[in-house]
Amino acid sequence: MRTTVGIIGAGPAGLLLARLLHRAGIDSVVLESRDRSYVEQRQRAGILEQGTVDVLRAAGAGERMEREGLRHDGIELRYDRKRHRVDFPALTGGRSVMVYAQTEVCKDLIALQLKEGGPLLFEAEALAVEGADGDSPSIRFRHEGREDVLECAYVVGCDGFWGVSRKAIPEALTRVFERTYPFGWLGILADVPPSHDELVYARHDRGFALLSMRSPSVSRLYLQVPEGTDAQSWGDERIWDELERRFETDDDWRLQRGPITQKSVTPMRSYVHEPMRHGRLFLAGDAAHIVPPTGAKGLNLAVGDVVTFARALTHEKETGSTELLDTYSETCLARVWQAERFSYDMTTLLHRAPDATPFEDRLQVARLERIASSEAAETDLAEGYTGFPFA
Ligand SMILES: Cc1cc2nc3c(=O)[nH]c(=O)nc-3n(C[C@H](O)[C@H](O)[C@H](O)COP(=O)(O)OP(=O)(O)OC[C@H]3O[C@@H](n4cnc5c(N)ncnc54)[C@H](O)[C@@H]3O)c2cc1C
Repeated sequence: MRTTVGIIGAGPAGLLLARLLHRAGIDSVVLESRDRSYVEQRQRAGILEQGTVDVLRAAGAGERMEREGLRHDGIELRYDRKRHRVDFPALTGGRSVMVYAQTEVCKDLIALQLKEGGPLLFEAEALAVEGADGDSPSIRFRHEGREDVLECAYVVGCDGFWGVSRKAIPEALTRVFERTYPFGWLGILADVPPSHDELVYARHDRGFALLSMRSPSVSRLYLQVPEGTDAQSWGDERIWDELERRFETDDDWRLQRGPITQKSVTPMRSYVHEPMRHGRLFLAGDAAHIVPPTGAKGLNLAVGDVVTFARALTHEKETGSTELLDTYSETCLARVWQAERFSYDMTTLLHRAPDATPFEDRLQVARLERIASSEAAETDLAEGYTGFPFA
């Protein structure tokens, strides 16, 4: 089997890359280790930055998102029983975000790929990337019980944090920057209309809480919990009671309860692998970097990487110059580090560390008061949240 771009992984990064390449007349093959329904049901991100929305529209993958996505013009910060709304368009010259679940982005891109694009093989597990530093890299993979080889001009590893592509970059050429946090997020899906029409980020002495949504009838809520917490150890009533306490206000706002349909715990990690390119192997999305979900950046960073790669390869095809491919890693990392900084700032602003001192508690509140009272501080948050520009 032979193709121009071998893509490992059919998450948002791999699927969007295949779509962008198809539109640019470049052929690709996508190998995905899981089956289609697993990929389409995996609950993860839900906030699309303005730039991601624009890219999906331009790629012809925005039709259902336009119909069913919820445009959000702000978020609410909640602390000390107070509420402060951050108005994105007013602070950023008109930018906003879209609530449209990662599951739906993946469903839309899979349907388009199967209808119009190149091969997308499910249950095809990449075993190794070989010859990345030569002229003809290849992917060894297993599909339908047989081992096969995909010969490529380029390989893009979109195989997430636990994939195989990163391992093909020699350790001696690699630097890893990492931080783990001593807490995670207990996330629930509940069949109840969201209790607020925008996301609510709450800082509380008992820990962080986030009110989010998947649709006008489905709420997504999160609670900060200690690292290693088992989701099943939290009963439904305990979850609602705890959410209620952390979202408390001085006015008559009330949290609506409903049946919980899903529960899981997500660990919190910051991670960057440098470089993001080795020879003809390029890393994109979670394969190269992880952010804690507080800033809603993971999916959006994956989009930025594949847009950068697709542009670079199109440039090479049109001009013969590899200049943009050669600077892929530096270009992506500049944006990645801004998102890492933003996600870290949001995480440390809103979560209570297990060993937090009263001094640190007061500092968090002072940082929130600063955002609520200074347009400069508030603009910084709004610009970061709605997204840093693609290169
Ligand atoms: C539990 C969880 C919750 C999250 N919640 C949020 C959130 O609320 N907000 C937010 O912004 N971000 C969130 N994220 C992050 C966001 O979902 C990711 O940043 C995003 O999925 C990155 O997309 P990706 O395509 O790079 O990687 P992935 O979505 O991880 O896709 C990688 C794909 O590669 C496949 N794969 C792996 N190994 C192989 C192999 N050897 N061969 C073939 N295929 C392989 C995997 O099956 C997968 O389909 C969350 C992540 C996790 C894990």
